[in-house]
Amino acid sequence: MPEAMATARASDNTGNQATQQVDVAVVGAGFAGLYLLYRLRKAGLKTVALEEAGDVGGTWYWNRYPGARCDIQTIDYSYTFDPDLERVWTWSEKYATQPEILRYLGFVADRYDLRREIRFGTKVTTARWDEAAECWQLTTDNGANVSCRHYIMATGCLSTPKPPEIDGVKDFKGEVYFTGRWPHDEVKLAGKRVAVIGTGSSGIQSIPFFAEQAAQVTVFQRTPNFALPAHNGSAPADRKALLEKDRAGYREQARWSLAGVPYPQQTVVSWQLSDAERRERFERAWAAGDLVHILTQLWADQGVDVDGNALVAELMREKIRASVNDPDTAETLSPHDHPFGAKRPCLDTNYYATYNRPNVTLVNLRQEPIKAITATGIATDKRSFDVDVIVFATGFDAMTGAITAVHPIAGRAGKSLSSVWANGPQTYLGLTVAGFPNLFMITGPGSPSVLSNMVVSIEQHVDWVVDRLSAMREAGFTVMEATETAQAGWARHMSDCAMLTLHRLANTWYTGANVPGKVQGVMPYTGGVGPYRSICSEVVSRGMLGFKLSGPNVAEQCNDGEVVRLQPDVRLVLNMLADMNLPPIETFGAAGARLFVNEFNKSRPLGRPVGEVVDGTLPGSDGPLPYRLYRPATPGPHPIVVYFHGGGWVLGDEQSDDPFCRDMCRRSGMIFVSVGYRHAPEHRFPTAAEDGYAATRWIAEHAVELGGRSGPVLVAGWSAGGNIAAVTCQLARERGGPQIAGQLLVCPVVDCTFDRPSYTENATGYFLTRSLMYWFWDIYCSPADRTDPRVSPLRGKLEGLPPAFLVTCEFDPLRDEGIAYGDALAKAGVPVEQLQARGHFHSSFTMVDMVITGVSGREKMADALRRFAGQAGASENARHARTAPRPEVDAAE
Ligand SMILES: Cc1cc2nc3c(=O)[nH]c(=O)nc-3n(C[C@H](O)[C@H](O)[C@H](O)COP(=O)(O)OP(=O)(O)OC[C@H]3O[C@@H](n4cnc5c(N)ncnc54)[C@H](O)[C@@H]3O)c2cc1C
Repeated sequence: MPEAMATARASDNTGNQATQQVDVAVVGAGFAGLYLLYRLRKAGLKTVALEEAGDVGGTWYWNRYPGARCDIQTIDYSYTFDPDLERVWTWSEKYATQPEILRYLGFVADRYDLRREIRFGTKVTTARWDEAAECWQLTTDNGANVSCRHYIMATGCLSTPKPPEIDGVKDFKGEVYFTGRWPHDEVKLAGKRVAVIGTGSSGIQSIPFFAEQAAQVTVFQRTPNFALPAHNGSAPADRKALLEKDRAGYREQARWSLAGVPYPQQTVVSWQLSDAERRERFERAWAAGDLVHILTQLWADQGVDVDGNALVAELMREKIRASVNDPDTAETLSPHDHPFGAKRPCLDTNYYATYNRPNVTLVNLRQEPIKAITATGIATDKRSFDVDVIVFATGFDAMTGAITAVHPIAGRAGKSLSSVWANGPQTYLGLTVAGFPNLFMITGPGSPSVLSNMVVSIEQHVDWVVDRLSAMREAGFTVMEATETAQAGWARHMSDCAMLTLHRLANTWYTGANVPGKVQGVMPYTGGVGPYRSICSEVVSRGMLGFKLSGPNVAEQCNDGEVVRLQPDVRLVLNMLADMNLPPIETFGAAGARLFVNEFNKSRPLGRPVGEVVDGTLPGSDGPLPYRLYRPATPGPHPIVVYFHGGGWVLGDEQSDDPFCRDMCRRSGMIFVSVGYRHAPEHRFPTAAEDGYAATRWIAEHAVELGGRSGPVLVAGWSAGGNIAAVTCQLARERGGPQIAGQLLVCPVVDCTFDRPSYTENATGYFLTRSLMYWFWDIYCSPADRTDPRVSPLRGKLEGLPPAFLVTCEFDPLRDEGIAYGDALAKAGVPVEQLQARGHFHSSFTMVDMVITGVSGREKMADALRRFAGQAGASENARHARTAPRPEVDAAE
């Protein structure tokens, strides 16, 4: 049974037109609107779609400029909801032209008889939530207003062209066109002088066509874009074969991929490849002419690390120099102001070569800004250009433009969406907004939308929304609304994700920077299509987490909370580990656990190069101990950090924290000496502590021989290694040396009780479990010895210890004892800084290059080490601080 219709109300501003009553009003008839109509009809909901354009198509109705094509291969840029539709429609080209895509959408509308529910030529102008009737009242500029229970904006991310920012457009006596509103009739350019303003995707696609027709083309460029050749033609055989071999499997892979196109996740990082290997990968991507390929398949760090990205950017600039004859023009066309991919790169056909034509001129607006448009053309502050035609290829007010153009959208208590979004768009999942019940957005800000193959995202959003409406109806709910908590949590998660990528380093339409006065911030969800899908499913499986549901005859339901509290990459790592369904490590026994850890470590990416790695042995308290020394590439002598690895006093060795030691060596500019102390059960308490102390003393005494700086050393350790570092500081103070300048304790074990809340809250699910900690303690230390400060340093005397930097992670059983140690040190007068890392788990900082969001924490650790050593600033670290991802890590100091 369809949902009861919204209460009838007479239209208040169109006079004699009766209000149209429906269950659902959809705005827009592009890819999203059409699929919504199909699904809503199947769900038995009475629906109307309102569309400003004269026909279906959305983007593909409006963008008719010459050269307009999609830039995701058409075999991927297609609906997948009906296998029969896939069988009856065959694309003619790798990247279909605008007319072909428009024909496809017309074909879809006809095949499912969707036009009968669409009111064309009808723009929605305002929308108000009617609290009493619990429905939305929409006004339109044509015909009846609409009253609906649910209001779904399928208004498009790129559907509101940005108005020109230049004075004098009205004075111009020639023809003016906008690529985003291109006329239906042919535009004749033969023999004319054409000015094109803008070199985004539309400009790059259309300029070569204009150049072929017009007498003269002058291109006004403010910011150059990266483009690579589309190599159009028929769909590539390899991709087609993949699809045809297993169509359903291919589509499913796309749904769980990062960008909505099935490509594998790259694991090889740039520094593991030689120059020749990198070039070979790049040339393959260049030849493939595929954005998703070049954006994801070169090396794993290309989109998350400035150095990994710079390698691609330079190869791209090399191609531009090779294509453009005039070196000055080539330089003007070469982007230097944004990482490759941080701004959407373009696919082109002869774009760069077009600048070799005698009838094409490039004007660099960075050097000569446009002063005004005059009656006869365009005046910069250096020259005047007389032209017959001006084409604005200036892009869109992306993501929010079409939504806020309906004004007001008034939610609860009459609050308008524009005012709620005054400081930037706030949404839950990119689909809903707190305070705006029963309002949904398809590919709204906060969804993967423009960073994905949009058809895949659109199908997922539509399915999720329509499934929710059906479920609500079955349960008797009529109103659904996001909570403020859930929305704030989503904003935090969005910002955590944005810190993982390089998008935040570019001023682009993704961030709103192309529209003067628009609040800036990364608007699309950067966490990827697959992770987003799994989060949306989790919201449902956790009882509509973050939504309030109500209805006339049912009790209100509100399962409030945040769906993702982990850092995004931590979530991925933990999900991956959960999928592996590993038996608990403690069930392997000590020898089996060591084997397991060794195997596990083999699968992680290699650490980054350092100046030198030297293996050696040092005399311990009872025989030689192995060590591995990491020396920075910078000139020495460097301060020395004595490092103790993690592993619960049972597992690991001097090489097992190799990536962490390399990373810290580079960031701090210090020698790291990782000590292979002896392990339990062969060597129980206090062997590890005594080995740690003996090794520190020996290293301090032999600092110069090791190539280090003489004077005090520093100590550092992670987990049980943090325990050894903390204990070493206490022993050194008691035993009269060596001198220690500072201690870095990362998620250390510092006490033998298990009753602090973090042991219960994080008992399972975060890799280091409570039961594993019990096991470690049992193997290393008998209960009678556990209060000894050489294993529970929190119980020792803390006065007079070296300054400390103490790191704890939110989702770690050891969190609260670490915080307690930091507090106790401070109380004892020891200078201490605490870094309480939000959303992180026990291994976050040592899983270098798997947990990218650990970077900013390691930067802070390196800074602290340098302060302890009396050094201010260091080249490697300063460089990283400037360029590397900088996720928010809450520091309580
Ligand atoms: C030139 C170009 C090329 C692109 N190529 C790709 C590609 O290769 N791959 C990809 O994934 N994406 C691409 N995109 C993005 C593209 O926008 C989406 O893929 C997709 O077409 C969006 O569909 P939609 O239905 O969400 O929105 P749209 O297609 O934008 O449709 C929204 C519709 O809503 C209507 N509307 C808006 N406001 C109102 C209102 N108040 N009242 C009534 N009607 C309203 C508009 O008129 C419009 O018709 C491209 C975009 C452009 C501009």
